[in-house]
Amino acid sequence: MNFMKHTRRSFKLTAALLALCMTLTLCACGEDKYEQSSVYAMDTYMTLTAYGKNAAAGLTAAEGVIRSMDSMLDPEQSSGTVYQLNHAAGKEVVVSGQIAEMLSTAKEVYDRSKGALDLTVYPLVKLWGFEDGKYYVPEYSAIVEARKRRCFNTLTLTSYPVSGSYTVSMAADGEISFGAVAKGCAADYAIEAMRNAGVDSGIISLGGNVQTLGLKPDGEKWKVAVQDPNNQADYVGVLEVGEAAVVTSGSYQRNFTSDDGTFYHHIIDPSTGSPANNTLVSVTIVCEDGTLADCLSTAMFVLGRSAALNYWRQYGGFEMVMVTRDNEVICTSGLIEEFTLANSGYTLSFSE
Ligand code: AMP
Ligand code: MG
Repeated sequence: MNFMKHTRRSFKLTAALLALCMTLTLCACGEDKYEQSSVYAMDTYMTLTAYGKNAAAGLTAAEGVIRSMDSMLDPEQSSGTVYQLNHAAGKEVVVSGQIAEMLSTAKEVYDRSKGALDLTVYPLVKLWGFEDGKYYVPEYSAIVEARKRRCFNTLTLTSYPVSGSYTVSMAADGEISFGAVAKGCAADYAIEAMRNAGVDSGIISLGGNVQTLGLKPDGEKWKVAVQDPNNQADYVGVLEVGEAAVVTSGSYQRNFTSDDGTFYHHIIDPSTGSPANNTLVSVTIVCEDGTLADCLSTAMFVLGRSAALNYWRQYGGFEMVMVTRDNEVICTSGLIEEFTLANSGYTLSFSE
C-alpha cells in the first residue's frame, strides 16, 4: 500500500465512522435486538446492521456477497473479471449475472443521459490519479488521448439463456471500471442475501450508499441523513424512507487542490475528460433499485441541475436531492413529505 492510498483510506475511515455515528443516531430503534458488522471492501468502510433473530446469519451472508463482488470488480486483481476484461485484447470474456445487470442498467442510463455515465472513462480516472491516489492535473493532449479510449457504445453484452451465462467484448484498447455502480449493485445483493437469510429489517451503509431492508423494527420509516458537502461531520437534511436505496455522489468524496489552488474531484465529465464543472456539489438519489440509484447519482452529477431535472421529468422512477455550490438544496417534488431541511446554512426548494 503506498502512502497516498493509505492517506485516502485513513480519511475514508474517519468519514465512515462519522457516517456510522450519524446513521446510528438517526436510526436508533429502541430495545430491538440487532447485530452489526463492519467490512472494508471496494476501498470503503461499510457498516451492516440487521435486526431480529436471524440477524447474525443475515450479516454473514451479506458480507460474503460484498467480498466476492469486491474481488470480481477490482481492476487490479488479476483473478477478477474486470482485470480480465481490461486485458482481453478485444476477445469475449465470460461475466457473472451481476456484471451483466450492472452493464445493462448502465447502458440505459448512458443512452438516456447522452453518455454522462460512461464506465469506460477508466483511462481518464487513472490519468487524473483518482485510482491510485497520486493526484495529478494531466496535459490537455493526454486528456484528448484518454478520451478517445471510451468505448461503451460499442461494448457488447451477450446473454445465453439456455446456460444462463453472459459474455462481454470490448474494444481492444478500452478499459472499464465499475466504480460508479459497484456499491449500488453490492447493496442490492447484500440486502437480498439478508432477506434470504430470514431478516426482514436492516440497513447497510457502503460509503455514500445507504440501502434499507423493510421498515425499522418498530414499523416506522428509516431516517437517512444527507451529508453536508461543506462539513462532512454534519448533514443538510434528513430523508424518511421505507425500503429504498439512498445513494449520494459528491465532489467532497474524493478530490484534491492543485498548486495553483484549483479544486478537482473524481466525477469525470466524459464530454470534456475533466471533472464535471457545474453548480452541483452533491446529488442524492432515492429509488427502489441500488444499481440504478448508483448509475443515476453519477450521471445526474455530470448533467448538472437543469439537465438532471429534465431527465427526472422525462424518465422518472426516482427522486433526488441536489446540493449546489451556492448552498441551495433542490428536491424533486416526490420528496415533499420525505425530506426535512436540518441546516440553517442552506435554502430549500422543490421542483416539479
Ligand atoms: P460515484 O461515487 O458513484 O459517483 O462514482 C464515482 C466513481 O466512478 C469515480 O471515483 C470513478 O472511479 C468513476 N467515474 C467517474 N466519472 C465517471 C463517469 N462519468 N461515468 C462512470 N464512472 C465514472
Ligand atoms: Mg454512482
